[in-house]
Amino acid sequence: MQSQALDLLHSVFGYPGFRGQQQAIVEAVAAGEDALVLMPTGGGKSLCFQIPALMRHGTGIVVSPLIALMQDQVDALTEAGVRARYLNSSLDAVTQREVEDLLLAGDLDLLYVAPERLLTGRFLALLDRIPIALFAIDEAHCVSQWGHDFRPEYRGLALLHERFPEVPRIALTATADDRTREEIVERLGLHEARRFVSSFDRPNIRYRVAPRQNARRQLVDFLDAHRGEAGIVYCLSRRKVDETAAWLAEAGVEALPYHAGLDAEVRTRHQQRFLREDGVVMVATVAFGMGIDKPDVRFVAHLDLPRSMEGYYQETGRAGRDGLPAEAWMIYGLGDVVTMSQMIAQSEAGDDRKRIERLKLDSLLGYAEATRCRRQLLLEAFAETYPEPCGNCDNCLVPPKTWDATVAAQKAMSCIYRSGQRYGAGHLIDILRGDASERVRELGHDKLSVFGIGADSDATQWRSVFRQLLAAGLIEADPEGYGTLRLSAASGPVLKGERRVSLREDARPARGRRTPGRAGPATAGASLGIEEIEQPLWNELRRVRAELARQHGVPAYVIFHDATLLAMLRALPANEDELASISGVGENKLKRYGKDFLAVLTAAG
Ligand code: ADP
Ligand code: ZN
Repeated sequence: MQSQALDLLHSVFGYPGFRGQQQAIVEAVAAGEDALVLMPTGGGKSLCFQIPALMRHGTGIVVSPLIALMQDQVDALTEAGVRARYLNSSLDAVTQREVEDLLLAGDLDLLYVAPERLLTGRFLALLDRIPIALFAIDEAHCVSQWGHDFRPEYRGLALLHERFPEVPRIALTATADDRTREEIVERLGLHEARRFVSSFDRPNIRYRVAPRQNARRQLVDFLDAHRGEAGIVYCLSRRKVDETAAWLAEAGVEALPYHAGLDAEVRTRHQQRFLREDGVVMVATVAFGMGIDKPDVRFVAHLDLPRSMEGYYQETGRAGRDGLPAEAWMIYGLGDVVTMSQMIAQSEAGDDRKRIERLKLDSLLGYAEATRCRRQLLLEAFAETYPEPCGNCDNCLVPPKTWDATVAAQKAMSCIYRSGQRYGAGHLIDILRGDASERVRELGHDKLSVFGIGADSDATQWRSVFRQLLAAGLIEADPEGYGTLRLSAASGPVLKGERRVSLREDARPARGRRTPGRAGPATAGASLGIEEIEQPLWNELRRVRAELARQHGVPAYVIFHDATLLAMLRALPANEDELASISGVGENKLKRYGKDFLAVLTAAG
């Protein structure tokens, strides 16, 4: 049996070997066991039910919450020569009939269905008439109310086991949250299922967080290093999405907006372009991303703080599904902390909920201001320990400097206190720096004992101090006031000299001209390590892929992933046999596309 699984992996999917726990999962399900699979995004969950479905007698029924997700997987399977279809509300009646006929005739290896369709009497009656290989419940966290994507229809899926007790079920999710996992087991009756828990680490994602100084300039610099690559830029508000997308487009970036306030038609169009074209940057609220299966998203940028560590993990996790280097980058500032604190304080939620939200925010702020390995902190948030610093986050790559900021903290706190705990950071900094602005004079704050006691530091340094004090809870934002800062219960010991404060030194943004290495056109694919000399062939390979994708009406990555093109670029296969040995080239794709790619490769070789 094991060799049958491997054979299918080679011949259908073109991959040389299983990853992580895939093989164990495939064997268990193929043998008829139930399984609960917890694996991060990009870990390779799909093969865990696709291969057993091919091994077992009958059709594999896959429950999936999103139409876009079904289409993607069915496209990819069809390209690989697997007999797969989907049934959902996007199909007309004639096509639905056609799919049902295929199902009844035993001509389908895999059928993807939306949960609400699966649970109709009509569909269950169809299932009674055919052999079923397995039930796969994808995105299983949708059954959980605690989780972030609750779908009431998922609740009904418990029925599958009662009605088809002999059919194995495999539930899969990338949710790292413990409570959600337990709810899945409970709701789907998977107490007896074997659990396969993978590490939630995403080693190919590099994490970076920077204080916001000049957001636009910082974003442009960041995007410069990712020219020609697909990525997502997350913003908190719809307005900011629209503004950011507009000025990026003006600056020559292929940027499109996406948020719930746009017409459904516009949203679909933008999503399609993001999926199908190479190198589109999606500027979006969190409304975008769930079920986006695009493997070659090279970066996720956050211009605002996400809601929680879980949210941050999910959002950044959309980068680098293909395992190639990808970047998660975030900027944040004093304003975010104030806004988020106010949003929590002013929300309608009860006190318990607010306390939880506050804890979630604190853990995120701890991450943002951390001086140690970010990967360790991120995984610790999900109760997983990562033994050594990772070497692939900003803090590991360039360890931040810290400084004894006790005196600065005392000055900042005194300034808050002496001016009556009624002002925001801007005004407080004017007082500290001895800047007798009109407002300072009007309020008589140039007469305060704290006036000018912080003239030795500039405004940027003071903002950094206020931000970090706020993030650490050493001062707090008045929930009612507009960014008003006040002392907190933790301020006292610092003011009395009982507690020392250590802060990180914010890196200064590069000033003036860019460094010469960054001038000139950056090469597309720079973050994949494509050298300038390889550029012409890389572009040719991508051109052939884009052309084939257009002809077949599928996204480029359905033809071949970047990882596969990259392997071709490096190995320069000269004939069909050599091409067949490239990871990602299965028999069907070899037949369909081999010639086109070999033409380009042999011309270069
Ligand atoms: P998930 O659903 O867990 O996010 P996918 O099933 O979409 O992940 O797989 C992520 C990527 O890894 C896909 O591009 C897939 O083709 C690739 N992949 C999965 N398993 C293997 C493997 N054994 N060898 C090589 N690539 C794999
Ligand atoms: Zn690290």
